[in-house]
Amino acid sequence: MRKHIFNAGPAVLPEEVLQQASEAVVDLHASGMSVLEISHRATAFDDILREAQSLVKELMGLGEDYSVLFLQGGASLQFSMLPMNLLSEEDAAGYADTGTWSVKAIKEARLFGQIHVLASSKQDNYRHIPKGYTIPDNLKYFHITTNNTIFGTQYHTFPDAPVPLIADMSSDILCRKMEATRFDFIYAGAQKNLGPAGVTLVIIKQSLLNLIRKTLPSMLDYRVHVENNSLYNTPCVFGIYVCLLTLRWLKSKGLDAIEALNKQKASLIYSVIDRYPLFSGHAVPEDRSLMNITFTLTKPELESQLLEETKKAGITGIKGHRSVGGFRASVYNALPLKSVSLLCEIMEDFGKKYS
Ligand code: PMP
Repeated sequence: MRKHIFNAGPAVLPEEVLQQASEAVVDLHASGMSVLEISHRATAFDDILREAQSLVKELMGLGEDYSVLFLQGGASLQFSMLPMNLLSEEDAAGYADTGTWSVKAIKEARLFGQIHVLASSKQDNYRHIPKGYTIPDNLKYFHITTNNTIFGTQYHTFPDAPVPLIADMSSDILCRKMEATRFDFIYAGAQKNLGPAGVTLVIIKQSLLNLIRKTLPSMLDYRVHVENNSLYNTPCVFGIYVCLLTLRWLKSKGLDAIEALNKQKASLIYSVIDRYPLFSGHAVPEDRSLMNITFTLTKPELESQLLEETKKAGITGIKGHRSVGGFRASVYNALPLKSVSLLCEIMEDFGKKYS
């Protein structure tokens, strides 16, 4: 029996995507070859790559001035590749510190330039998204993490930046309609909303690409990857194929419907949290994430019992990250409503009994 998968990433994928991917592992479109066996230079893969790139642009409303790349090295490589491409030692960039992944991005960027942390919510253990700060116009770029996977906060409005705006969207890419054209650079590890681990989506605006002046190792140079359309070396063929299947699934549902369902799923869980004093949400309500719902119990001694009850019901992946403790329900696009309803029922019974 299939589990109810609340993993933070790698995470749940649509069942039909898993089915189609498994068929392609045996035989891709009756070609007599597995998707694992085709050449990355073959027409079959060229079709896969181009369709995946154009679906990303279509779903995000991006035009010809953006390039879509599928790279390797995870979102973590982008933490260093981005400043390596864009900064020289005397250049400055701004970052917002909204949690563990921002901190990691800041740490890597410091190897390449002057990094200013313009806002941070560290003081309250990252319960909120900082607002109302000024972004100087002498920065090369300003970087945010749109969804904070560990702490469960998310930007619901984006800062107005007088410089190129850059975002790590690893854990909320394509979870809602948004103005993607406000960003000059977007990156996301695929393993939450897009596909399997091993492929990283990078979206770069031509005007930002034009700012890169340094000589860089080829594999770390965005210009090389754009010129070669993600085929400078052998890309993650299977990962990109599964991304394509997920993007097709997303398109068939429609981003509006996906967003509506994500809001419904998240509000079901948040409303149980808010109804029972036993539960305490980590994020402040206005910055709550649609994707990662974090909460603790006011009676922590009951945590293992709740975990046990959810486990018996086939729910997996809801143990909280050690930085917050308690629970984290990751409710990415592909998680069915029925999984959320089941978790809510269990939480509701538990809340009634022990609040
Ligand atoms: N950024 C965010 C927001 C993440 O959630 C993660 C992974 N959980 C990362 C970056 C790191 O991604 P990767 O493991 O692909 O390097």
